[in-house]
Amino acid sequence: MEIVLDLHVHSLASGHAYSTIAEIARAAADRGLQGVAITEHGPAMPGGPHGYYFGNLKAVPRELYGVRIFRGVEANLMDGDGKLDLAPRFMKHLDLVAAGFHVDCFPAGGSVAEHTRALVNAMAGGWVDIIVHPGNPQFRIDPVAVVQAAKEHRVALEINNSSLTGSRKGSLEVCPEIAQVAAEFGIMVSLGSDSHWAGTVGQLDAALELVLKAGIKPENILNTSLTKLEEFLAERQTRRPKGKKATAAYTKPQNSKL
Ligand SMILES: [Zn+2]
Ligand SMILES: [Zn+2]
Repeated sequence: MEIVLDLHVHSLASGHAYSTIAEIARAAADRGLQGVAITEHGPAMPGGPHGYYFGNLKAVPRELYGVRIFRGVEANLMDGDGKLDLAPRFMKHLDLVAAGFHVDCFPAGGSVAEHTRALVNAMAGGWVDIIVHPGNPQFRIDPVAVVQAAKEHRVALEINNSSLTGSRKGSLEVCPEIAQVAAEFGIMVSLGSDSHWAGTVGQLDAALELVLKAGIKPENILNTSLTKLEEFLAERQTRRPKGKKATAAYTKPQNSKL
């Protein structure tokens, strides 16, 4: 089994990351990757890009240095209803919508029930393809309820490599349980480096080790094949909401100028 994709990478545009998309692609090519998903933080993140950034990603070539560039976002979950901080008119241009909890964006001090409700609602909303770092101990969830919703809505859950190598302290205890439940239910998982610097693109070893140890089958790991990812995303596209349901999934961030 080979890992050919990194599905969670930040460029300069995220505001606290330090490499350009071209540098990221070059680094991915050097590591032998076939594709990367550029997933900048959503507009509610302090220093995050404006919605226009996501709307104009067509300016970036589909392929750089032989590496496929997937146009994505790491949207912020904003409330218990699972609303996102990127407007549907921008999200609709993206190949991949990831979403997760972040301090400063989601109200602090929430309960397991509240966090679980936010994730389940976000997945039911139709926009979200991947839930990122669901094992963040600052936002505890009910793994079974979240995995069941992921199965129902055909959403992938991420095992985040940086959570296992220093970020989001306490993840080492939470992530194995989530991976175990994901293995039991046979849902798709996504591995992400959460790289904020080109040198760490494709660093997925800890996440890969964890998911294999949990018993997740290689065919349920999105990063193992470009075709598998494309099929997954094509199926996800058919689930994207239209009309009122599309806009109901969005709440305007307070810092937005739109
Ligand atoms: Zn994140
Ligand atoms: Zn990230």
